Amino acid sequence: MHATLPLIETTDFPALRRGRLETLQVNLGYQCNQSCTHCHVNAGPSRKEMMDSGTVDTVLEFLAASEVLRLDLTGGAPELNPHFRRLVREARALGAHVIDRCNLTVLEEPGQEDLAAFLAGERVEIIASLPCYTRELVDRQRGKGVFEASIRAIQRLNALGYGRPQPGLVLNLVYNPQGPSLPPPQEKLEADYKRRLSEAFGIEFNRLYTLANMPIQRFGSMLISKGEFGDYMKLLRASYREENLDRVMCRSLVSVDWQGYVYDCDFNQMLGLPLRVAGRPRLKLSDLLGRNLEGQPIVVKDHCYGCTAGQGSSCGGALAA
Ligand code: SF4
Ligand code: SF4
Repeated sequence: MHATLPLIETTDFPALRRGRLETLQVNLGYQCNQSCTHCHVNAGPSRKEMMDSGTVDTVLEFLAASEVLRLDLTGGAPELNPHFRRLVREARALGAHVIDRCNLTVLEEPGQEDLAAFLAGERVEIIASLPCYTRELVDRQRGKGVFEASIRAIQRLNALGYGRPQPGLVLNLVYNPQGPSLPPPQEKLEADYKRRLSEAFGIEFNRLYTLANMPIQRFGSMLISKGEFGDYMKLLRASYREENLDRVMCRSLVSVDWQGYVYDCDFNQMLGLPLRVAGRPRLKLSDLLGRNLEGQPIVVKDHCYGCTAGQGSSCGGALAA
């Protein structure tokens, strides 16, 4: 894989500072039942990296001691971490809103037969990637049979009440472009998804989040291989919108890796760019206990233009929508 960090290191992206911390985004490990070609953490069935019980305890301790109200769980497939359900239960008992970034097919994995019911019982919000409403494109990006399994999973979640106006169990889907272009307007694409998926499969969901591809890791490497990296960066820069700066996710989020180290966002985690406080080289979540991060500078590089281009992009979809 081509290294992308040297190409984004020198930047004129505006300096950013942290606002109030609202979300703790925790990567529970790189094991996944899928091995998607575009996966930005290179997750797969053979990966062994998993957050351990002690680090899960630190996450809970941090939630209990801070005013953070949202716990956003990611991976790999976060549900495959043996401490996933304890973390969800205890975070919910602390009053946190819990988000599971679920790949949908994990609901059909052996031993996960009761996972959907567990998530519904704990009223966990589900955010799931479905890069298209057609079989061909989903299977090409995420593996053969993934589209059918994803549709079955959504039907199961709908049957439990997910994605319906009531009882308020939230199922959001995520779209990202296949190539080096910006996502289309979120609201229009959401309407298309809702119509096509309802007509063809009778399924429902709440919101569609459109995300821009970041010029890093596998996607960035693919651009370098095809000689398209420079043009994609030009597109991101030309589409810069200053009004998105206030709402980029790093202003209100801390990203935690499977070993408990902290970053300004998931992308910086993947680039190995740690969150900086008072010049300290590399901090763990336990170092942030009792510390107010408001006003601290954020580590920015040229990939940040991926968050501010066009309608903007964050882990909660378009910023301008
Ligand atoms: S489902 Fe997600 S974490 Fe798993 S391989 Fe695919 S992109 Fe990576
Ligand atoms: S890439 Fe990360 S640090 Fe840069 S603007 Fe986006 S969220 Fe913030």
